[in-house]
Formats: sequence, C-alpha cells, structure tokens
Amino acid sequence: MTRLSTVLQHLYDNIVSLGEDLLGLFYPRVCAGCDAHLRKHEHNLCLICLHDLPLTYFWDYDVAPVEELFWGRLPVASACSFLHFEQDNKTQSLMHRLKYDGRTGVGIELGKAFAFKLQEKGWFSDIDMIIPLPLHVTRQVRRGYNQSTYIAEGISEVYQKPVNTHVLKRVVASDSQTSKSRFERSENVERIFKANAKELRGKNVLLVDDVVTTGATLVSAGSQLVEAGVNKLYIATLAVA
Ligand SMILES: [Zn+2]
Repeated sequence: MTRLSTVLQHLYDNIVSLGEDLLGLFYPRVCAGCDAHLRKHEHNLCLICLHDLPLTYFWDYDVAPVEELFWGRLPVASACSFLHFEQDNKTQSLMHRLKYDGRTGVGIELGKAFAFKLQEKGWFSDIDMIIPLPLHVTRQVRRGYNQSTYIAEGISEVYQKPVNTHVLKRVVASDSQTSKSRFERSENVERIFKANAKELRGKNVLLVDDVVTTGATLVSAGSQLVEAGVNKLYIATLAVA
C-alpha cells in the first residue's frame, strides 16, 4: 500500500512537472526583477535578484528605524520593513511589477523572505492575525487585486497565522487633501477606514502594507484598529521609502 502510494505520488509529481514544462513553452517564466528566464526551482525571482535585494536589516535592531514614523501618532508594539525603496532601485521595479503588472507572486515570494528574517529574530511572535492594508473597493475592482494581500499571504505561510481581509475596510476612495489645512487633513485621514471591533477586541494584529513613506495611511488604518480594541498592533511593510 505504502509502495503504491509512493509510486502514485511519483507519477503525480512527474505529471505536474511535465505540465509546468509544457506551460513554460507557451508562457516562458521570467524573473520579475531582471526578465531572465527562471530555472526550474526559481519562482518569480531569480537567485541573482534575490541576492541583490536592498535589505534594510531592520530585524537586527531592537527598535527598527521605521518605527520612529509612528511615535506620537500611533501606539505600535513594533514595526519593521524589509527593503529600501529608492528611485530606480530594484525595490521600485519589483513594486511596480507587483502593483501594476499582475506579478502577484512577487508579493508572496518577498513576504515569505521577509517573514523568515523576522521569525528567526523573534519578531511578531504573538500575532493572532495578519491584516493587509485595504484598498477602496472601486480601486481594487479596477486593479483586480490588493497587492498587500499577497505580501500578507507570504508572511502567513511562514507564521501559520490567518490573513484577515474583512475586519478592516477602506470606506473612502481617495485621500486627495491638497487644498485642506493640516487639521482638516488629519481629520479626513481618520475617516478613511472602518474596523470591526467585535472580531478585533483583545487580538494581536499585524498590519501589512507594501511601501511606507510618511506613514499617514498606516496611522489612519492603525488608529481604527486601536479604537476597535486590539491588544497589540504590529506593522510590517515590504519597503520603506
Ligand atoms: Zn532576476
């Protein structure tokens, strides 16, 4: 019996592998970072690109520099980022692929790579759920997906904690606030998100976003989570600008 199942598994693996090879003939698999053809065991990114990523090494710090963005604005237990984002660097082109070219696998791949570093150093060890920063429904329909969900899925694979996409909603489409005063701006930002207190109260939550710049959107979303009664709020962004 065991032998038969081994043979069947072997047969199945071969069929899957053959299928992948055939697919590769029609849809050549290329690296999202450099367009090189991917080898059999590479997914989304080639080994060279994976080794060339502009890592922050923030997971080696007690307090990651990115956390300073939230001081006095949002009570975070801790915050960390994986990559440096700069004009024309590898991170920027990967983010573009992830957001606009449908290369969602890049989000999963990088989310996983980030999570391995974090977990190894004991970050976010008591989280109950992972929440991707939501897009407004109209934008998500237009794009077809929320890029942060894929990053969250990658982190989830490593941490074995669920991704929750329904407890936090974006209720205002855009935060175009150029003509408003600073006070009105912050008021406006706070009403962009809505959180479900019933499911969040007492939970330790990891909020995930693709790139953090000023932190305003994360502060806005995070404030709603805090108001909803989360116990600890953690933040992870794939990149920091
Ligand atoms: Zn590459």
